[in-house]
Amino acid sequence: MEVGTGKVHRVAGPVVQATGLKSHMYDLVLVGEEGLMSEVIGIAGDKHVIQVYEDTDGVKPGEPVKETGAPLVAQLGPGILTSIYDGIQRPLPKLVEASGNFISRGLFVDGIDHKKKWEFEPVAKKGDKLEPGQTIGTVQEQLLIKHKIMMPPDKRGTVKEIKSGNFTVEETICVLEDGTELPMIQYWPVRRARPSRSKEAPSIPLRTGQRVIDGFFSLAKGGTAAIPGGFGTGKTVMQQTLSKWSDVDIVVYVGCGERGNEMADLLHEFPELVDPRTDRPLMERSIVYANTSNMPVAAREASIYTGITTAEYYRDMGYDVMMTADSTSRWAEAMRELSSRLEEMPGEEGYPAYLGARLADFYERSGRVTTLEGTEGSVSIVGAVSPPGGDFTEPVTQNTLRITKVFWALDSKLTQRRHFPSINWLDSYSLYDLTLEPWFVENVSPDWNKNKRRAMEILQENAELEEIVMLVGSDALPEDQQLTLEVARMIINFWLAQSAFHPVDTFCPYKKQFDLLKAILHFRDLAFEALARGVPTDVILGTPSKDALAKVRLLEDYEPELEKVRAQMESEFKTMS
Ligand code: ADP
Ligand code: MG
Repeated sequence: MEVGTGKVHRVAGPVVQATGLKSHMYDLVLVGEEGLMSEVIGIAGDKHVIQVYEDTDGVKPGEPVKETGAPLVAQLGPGILTSIYDGIQRPLPKLVEASGNFISRGLFVDGIDHKKKWEFEPVAKKGDKLEPGQTIGTVQEQLLIKHKIMMPPDKRGTVKEIKSGNFTVEETICVLEDGTELPMIQYWPVRRARPSRSKEAPSIPLRTGQRVIDGFFSLAKGGTAAIPGGFGTGKTVMQQTLSKWSDVDIVVYVGCGERGNEMADLLHEFPELVDPRTDRPLMERSIVYANTSNMPVAAREASIYTGITTAEYYRDMGYDVMMTADSTSRWAEAMRELSSRLEEMPGEEGYPAYLGARLADFYERSGRVTTLEGTEGSVSIVGAVSPPGGDFTEPVTQNTLRITKVFWALDSKLTQRRHFPSINWLDSYSLYDLTLEPWFVENVSPDWNKNKRRAMEILQENAELEEIVMLVGSDALPEDQQLTLEVARMIINFWLAQSAFHPVDTFCPYKKQFDLLKAILHFRDLAFEALARGVPTDVILGTPSKDALAKVRLLEDYEPELEKVRAQMESEFKTMS
């Protein structure tokens, strides 16, 4: 397509109107003398409405707008891992290198290095018929991550020539019979989901090592979860803990317009994180997108789409990928600002009417899939939501809640009590519960679900009792209810609470989660038996083994100690009178 040039007609913050363009919806255009990266987001008569991914200060009517004839694309190929990008996949370190700490505008930097040579090892042979998504060859991208060079999703053909050796991402590594020359790099429009053969049922859990999540509100591989919570309730710590511990191969971390210092923390902290399974930097299997709140709002949206596109690309290689976005509220606020600049009819609290649809489109791109090639891969999405004042009735939380299947409600009351993770066990839920139960029964214990339900019932009863206690005090309760309060306290403090910063407790394997809960429930049974034979509650509650149980979770090799505590528990209750 021939690319033309138009003119800036009007500038309103991040939104520019231009005349004289032939671009399509979502085409990339370059605005002003500096050529600021921008995207067409509306066409009305002879005017194009454009959102600019960079600061528009000083851009004046009459300045040129250059067409590119293509939508915003991500560059996909070896070299994505370890990158820290801005919202439009420009590597931040390269930007700083090119323009100093004060990033100048209109700078184009490739998403992956086009000069670096990678060792390409062919898989396909001359004469092979390659289908879309099929592996042509591989590159060892990181020590532990093999990067599949795949047929682009829209290409097929017979191999006429295939090379082997060191190449840049732009050099031809394979030629098809029809003359098509294939380099390692692929370009993909970020707003379009990459295709797969089929979506599979969410029947495998995504292990996180967090008891309250795995045990109560589990996420499925390829599933979606929301973490809503007010300021300081632990969203960021949770997302970093999940990035570190979840059993995924690749992590895509999108820092979407949180406050500048939080982003600085991210840029400082994330590269320091060590992958506990390999003792290597977590960055080696991560991609970070960083938008500070002072970057233009349109770039936040771009970072979400670019992030999910890179996530899908690694999924297509057969990897399990987790994408986290911190925070989707900042993205929604960007939509609100742009919508008001466009003078669209505002919906609830000024958010555009399409807020829910946009969020849904994004979360829809998650899933455990059979790839075009026939292997299995997944993208799980965890989105933080930061409702102002922690009020979950606001539109972003409500719309997200309708879409995501898991809801980890962070509770500032728990934060104040220093109970972490501050996931409220009464308000949270997982709609994967039923589809995941068979997996837990088969792989951990036949009693997994039964125990989980028992524990939840105790917590439910506890909540009702607490209301009574508030009115009349706990001494007024019958003895069995006092015991229930105590057992609930044990579930809350010994099991639900988990320190992200304790070297052992930060990750709890399934078996340990199960054993610990089972021990607490066993204590409960012994306590009620004792009560039935007339032992007074204060004697039961004074049992030393109860406190011994509290410390077991802090041990790596916990089983001998748990066995000891169990034996102690049995003997204490036997002699109790
Ligand atoms: P948010 O992102 O919701 O504003 P943060 O994730 O930054 O909140 O958490 C605020 C603080 O709470 C942290 O600096 C940390 O001290 C504490 N915290 C959060 N989660 C945990 C956890 N799982 N274990 C221990 N401390 C935590
Ligand atoms: Mg945060």
